Amino acid sequence: MIDFAVPSHLENYIGGYLIGPLSGKFIDNVNPATGEVYCQIPDSGEKDVELAVGAAKKAFPKWSATPAEERFLVLNRIATLIDEHRDALAEAESTDNGKPLWLSKRVDIPRASANFRFFATGIMHFSADSHTMEQTAINYTLRQPIGVVGCISPWNLPLYLFTWKIAPALAAGNCVVAKPSEVTPLTAFLLARICKEAGLPEGVLNIVHGTGPGVGEHIVKHPAIKAISFTGSTRAGERIASIAAPMFKKLSLELGGKNPNIIFADCDFGKMLKTTVQSSFANQGQICLCGSRILVEESIYEKFKTAFLEEVKKLKVGDPMEADSKQGAVVSKVHFDKVMGCIETAKEEGGSTLAGGKAVKPEGRCAGGYFIEPTVIEGLGPHCRTNLEEIFGPVVTLQKFSTEEEALALANAGHYGLSATIWTSDVSRANRVAMQVEAGIIWVNCWLLRDLRTPFGGIKNSGVGREGGWEALRFFTEAKNVCVQL
Ligand code: NAD
Repeated sequence: MIDFAVPSHLENYIGGYLIGPLSGKFIDNVNPATGEVYCQIPDSGEKDVELAVGAAKKAFPKWSATPAEERFLVLNRIATLIDEHRDALAEAESTDNGKPLWLSKRVDIPRASANFRFFATGIMHFSADSHTMEQTAINYTLRQPIGVVGCISPWNLPLYLFTWKIAPALAAGNCVVAKPSEVTPLTAFLLARICKEAGLPEGVLNIVHGTGPGVGEHIVKHPAIKAISFTGSTRAGERIASIAAPMFKKLSLELGGKNPNIIFADCDFGKMLKTTVQSSFANQGQICLCGSRILVEESIYEKFKTAFLEEVKKLKVGDPMEADSKQGAVVSKVHFDKVMGCIETAKEEGGSTLAGGKAVKPEGRCAGGYFIEPTVIEGLGPHCRTNLEEIFGPVVTLQKFSTEEEALALANAGHYGLSATIWTSDVSRANRVAMQVEAGIIWVNCWLLRDLRTPFGGIKNSGVGREGGWEALRFFTEAKNVCVQL
């Protein structure tokens, strides 16, 4: 029986044991929908990371030599246990993060189990190349686990993104020292209990809770950790790269975005409208793939604006635990202040607020929570702060274009290059524009349709490297070529 009750103090998971931080220090964990502290999380430090690395190093010889079929069995058991406890995990996720419960149940938790199942099965099909030099030699390439690897994840999709990293790392035979966001630690803590129940050997996965500087940097700096997989802000990514690059570590950086949503007049208007409301505001706009810059062809601009605003005003913001809340709380007071500040900046830059722009104060249990109205801003050009900097909240801007060239110039303005969405019924144009948009992930006439086999990641300041499918298994293995002369 796994215990899903939330203890007053969360613990690290090191060497197969749940233990408190060596410093004895803790940080408040706040429910963003109520503003109340509901548990404490370890404020771990260098010594806890050292302990975790020691446990991972000890576990590595056996785990890396464990046949893929056995790794599959235990990782698949973890997936099954996540599925079996979907409701408890979803409740924990929504309490910790503020996202609607229906979203955690429908997206976050099912995707966490899918991550384990996908890479558990993937490792049984993973193979490497061989190259024959006619009559001379055969080369074969070994794909060997790296050793101890570090995985650091953000708060917006807590268990979803945490497992997206650790599942391929473990499947490939590595041992992991992982750090979830200190803002949303709860489901990672519960995952430790699941891993124990599933029979994951001690030390194979170690979870150290704490802050970026307190834990994350010590993971990045540790000489025994040979690869770092990081998802988070571009600023933290830059800092991590500056530490890891001179140590010649393998690095995967999934960073921020400011994604364009390019809408041509010939699109399927109804489908586009419905999806654009989702791509703008899903998870309170706190998905790195949300389309925060909506670019609309001039001939349908007014029609779009009227219809879009009508839909946006229908979105109910409120208690994440209520089934009809379309929008929950943003993740923290700090983030609430940041997003509200961005809305002020937009006004100072001359933008007009067409919808939203204000905090929401629900009655009852959520009166102290951090809620923001879905906000739509118009009248700003591509080079202002509002259209260049990531807001990562329920705020989108509208801009119009009259030609394909103009749409591309707007789409490619700025330093980010994570994803883009293109709406058109002209297949040639869809492909032409897709080829020219500077982003790593393009959706045509859809959004967030994910096939886990596809490469996932950004260009420009949105990151380095790709996750997903074979890309992830290649990242978490070292290629070694063996050349045998005939
Ligand atoms: P963040 O960079 O503040 O933190 C992410 C994680 O890194 C946290 O666990 C944090 O404690 C840790 N961290 C912070 N500073 C660190 C340091 N110096 N060394 C090591 N670890 C450190 O990001 P966030 O606010 O948690 O998440 C939001 C950001 O994540 C947004 O920019 C969003 O676009 C990005 N994101 C990107 C993707 C993607 O796939 N590209 C997906 C989700 C979120």
